[in-house]
Amino acid sequence: MSQCTYPSCTQLAVAYKQASVLQYCGPHYADRWWNRQFPGQTHPSSDLRQAVAAEWTLTIATKVEQWDFEKESAGFTLEKTVRAGVRKVAGDYVSRDPQYFQRPINGFGHSYFKLKSGDEENSFGVYAAGLRCPDPLATKPEGTTQLALDYKINKNQKDKVCQLITKWLIEFEIGATSGDRSRGYDLMGTNCTVFVKAACEVADIWWMASRLPAYSSSKGLNFTQTPNMLYAALSYSSYAYDPLMPGGHTAAPQGLLAVYYNWLTSWSKTPAAKH
Ligand SMILES: [Zn+2]
Repeated sequence: MSQCTYPSCTQLAVAYKQASVLQYCGPHYADRWWNRQFPGQTHPSSDLRQAVAAEWTLTIATKVEQWDFEKESAGFTLEKTVRAGVRKVAGDYVSRDPQYFQRPINGFGHSYFKLKSGDEENSFGVYAAGLRCPDPLATKPEGTTQLALDYKINKNQKDKVCQLITKWLIEFEIGATSGDRSRGYDLMGTNCTVFVKAACEVADIWWMASRLPAYSSSKGLNFTQTPNMLYAALSYSSYAYDPLMPGGHTAAPQGLLAVYYNWLTSWSKTPAAKH
């Protein structure tokens, strides 16, 4: 491993852009990214870490192909896990409930968040290829259903969200460039929705949905959060709106987003509450 190429930095390089030319330690890599110094890359509109505005809007948003995927896939997931185990114990390897043969149509979705102050707005999202700003799916309406929810946050909370972005930026770059698969993106674990949840947490927005079971043909049963879970949670908020529709939106009260209490049957609505 080589040394960071930032002037007079003695740290080891952990992230790079453009092969061996631009190698940096994590903090210097992040500095370059925030300051728009990677030619040909997308960047935030400015170094938001340095921004001093007192009031910010944190928008959490998600888009899904099939809005009721969670409900539709519950039988499939149960069939693949619990019922299969029960049948095996009972020595029954054959019978399956035909109602649950089919995997639901499409569980594709994507979650991201936006930071806005004045006229400056930036969207952030993570993909297998890394953290993106602007998020390429944030402005694409095709074939999806989407919802967003605004929260007013202060500078201190904005700073914490920026720290989170920096942390994930570095971690994903290390994961992508080192080939260390325990770091960076994991569809069934460290995914786009987990990133949005983490941003909510550092901004003091309580999102109670814990990691929920999700079935993957490659990894089997795993626990994660998905765009469909976030979509279902947002759909219970009277402050939720379609992010592609023009017009102003009322921010939700700071606090509880939603409670997802029974992953097999339904979502529960709990009013947003001040804390
Ligand atoms: Zn350095």
